[in-house]
Amino acid sequence: MKTIGIIGGMSYESSLHYYERINRQVNDVAGGLTCAKLIVYNVNFEEIHELMLKDDWNSIGEILGEVAKKLESVGADYLVIATNTIHKVANIIQNYISIPLIHISDCVAEKCKEANVSYLGLLGTKYSMCEDFLKNRLMMNGLNVITPDNDEEIEEINRIIFDELCKGVIKDNSKKYYVDIINKMVQDKGIQGIIFGCTEIEMLVKQSDLDIPIFDTTQSHIDCIVDYALENKK
Ligand code: GLU
Repeated sequence: MKTIGIIGGMSYESSLHYYERINRQVNDVAGGLTCAKLIVYNVNFEEIHELMLKDDWNSIGEILGEVAKKLESVGADYLVIATNTIHKVANIIQNYISIPLIHISDCVAEKCKEANVSYLGLLGTKYSMCEDFLKNRLMMNGLNVITPDNDEEIEEINRIIFDELCKGVIKDNSKKYYVDIINKMVQDKGIQGIIFGCTEIEMLVKQSDLDIPIFDTTQSHIDCIVDYALENKK
């Protein structure tokens, strides 16, 4: 079994899901007392978030690059970043290490392709929705992805992630806000599926809330991580 290196803490609410589900899924396959060999480096998200607000992504890349190097030096065979937004600096982080980094977008794209769904909406932080680092990677995988184009909606989707979901706060009116936006994208743009491009959204909106399929980055990433750990995937 391979040893997984996880850069976590962004937020710790979603990192918990990574830790719990990776172990459970590895055990489901391997049985007995088997669990995953994994090393989590939980960063202080407050420090990283302050740099995000200052738009200082180079410093974020450098800090997390050093974290990646530490994970490699203590035996990680491959690395994952347990959040979508930080994939904005995935290339910088990759340059610090010689082990592979499993990109979250490739994992969710694989699920979309398996389900034959190619025209999708994408929800996430404002960085993930307004910039190209996730969308381009999804497009490279053959998907056609759109995001909400109304500034007010983008701000509110983003606010709910940082002010509520990253703190483990789940509110009915925030769920309704997300569901209404997704339904509007179905009606106005005809999307066939929705990508939850933020690792906390799955805590808020469930498949039973929607008529179109959800492609969740957290679970897709976890499935890939487990496949790599068990060497079902190279
Ligand atoms: N975890 C979130 C994501 O998947 C948002 C928090 C962050 O900026 O890392 O994008």
